[in-house]
Amino acid sequence: MTGTLWFRLVIVVTVLIFMGCFSEKQEKPDIFLIIIDTLRADHLGCYGYERSTSPILDSLAASGTLFSRCQAQAPWTLPAHASIWTGLSVKSHMTGIRNMVVYGLDSEIDNIATLLKDVDYVTLGFVNVILISHSFGFANGFDHYSSTDQGHGRAAATVDEVLEWFSENRGNPRPKLTVIHLFDVHSPYDPPAPFDTKFDPLGTQGVTEFVTDSLGILMNPEATDHLMDMYDSEISWVDNQLGRLFSELRRSGIADNAYIVVTSDHGEEFFEHGSWSHGHSLYQEILHVPLIVSGPGISLGVIDSTPCGQFDILPVIAGFAGVPIPDHVEGIDLFNQVSPDRVIPSSGVIPGHSTTQDPREFESMCSILNGFDKGILNYFTMDEQLFNLRLDPGEHDPYPLDSLHRFELDNYWSTPPVGHPHVVRGTAVEIDLNDLGYL
Ligand SMILES: [Zn+2]
Repeated sequence: MTGTLWFRLVIVVTVLIFMGCFSEKQEKPDIFLIIIDTLRADHLGCYGYERSTSPILDSLAASGTLFSRCQAQAPWTLPAHASIWTGLSVKSHMTGIRNMVVYGLDSEIDNIATLLKDVDYVTLGFVNVILISHSFGFANGFDHYSSTDQGHGRAAATVDEVLEWFSENRGNPRPKLTVIHLFDVHSPYDPPAPFDTKFDPLGTQGVTEFVTDSLGILMNPEATDHLMDMYDSEISWVDNQLGRLFSELRRSGIADNAYIVVTSDHGEEFFEHGSWSHGHSLYQEILHVPLIVSGPGISLGVIDSTPCGQFDILPVIAGFAGVPIPDHVEGIDLFNQVSPDRVIPSSGVIPGHSTTQDPREFESMCSILNGFDKGILNYFTMDEQLFNLRLDPGEHDPYPLDSLHRFELDNYWSTPPVGHPHVVRGTAVEIDLNDLGYL
């Protein structure tokens, strides 16, 4: 080889090495966290549902890893999202309702946006309900945070908004964290055509009356079936909108270097234990939420049955972004850490009128999952139940709580809270919480 050729080769190799270093620095992965409100895991095809509600999410699960035993840390929107945002359980972030006072997320606690912003991520939030708006402290750390100050929005408009942002910012070399919250599956169930008649030709007829009417209709099994049909139709509608989002991410090339994490804040009861909606119990129809992760290096088609929780999402995303996990975080990076003996806690039911300073009375109810054993303790009534979810997944045949699980439940409260949540006041807040059945 001549000296000139050698010289050219050295130049080419130098440029390639430089480009490699440069592109590595520039090309941290984009991360999409998609939270579908009120979506119970067992109503998705990839979690075994017999109805075809979720072909898009089923396909995402086939191209990634599905966590089959993910527990919500709380049974309703505000505290559950706070756990997703912070990697903490409810007793640590203290977000929720106590003494009929609403407490928003403490802006001093590191959250998923503040952590990634520190490593040059553009942080984007598109959320659909006032409960996780600026007013409640959830916008902290986001460069762009689109939320509603009243009521709730719809999936199609939010997906449009996300796609519009990426279209307008095409060429921005910085990595992006995009948090998308879709509220549609939450009541009132009003799926748009043609999804409204997918599972029942009656469509939404009668649903409004059902939601707002008295207990006589609530006890009608046919009405319950109809309500669930509309709930499933909302899932199909949202799944369809996610198909639109994912298609565009693939077409534009964004998906080539992006992680997609899909979860929910909590499930929904349909009278499995005597009531409807969510927020006031800790059974699995409320706590079992989906967690699907897809992206570079994630094993395809894997079903991981490790018990985990929403508070693991922040560590998982921190791992994708190369951010150290703060010491106070209770969750773990499910792809890089193991913790075989951990118990998964849930609390934060909407309490009655509590007058003491005992945090257990604030929270009133707590559950822990230890393997397949699940204990639930109501600190008001002192009702206690222990279930084996392998033998009794529907939680119909409780055992008496034994001393070990009683200890684990009480131990949940033994560490001091991390956050100092702020009081949220405002007429719009109270109206919205009333409309959603929370106050
Ligand atoms: Zn919710």
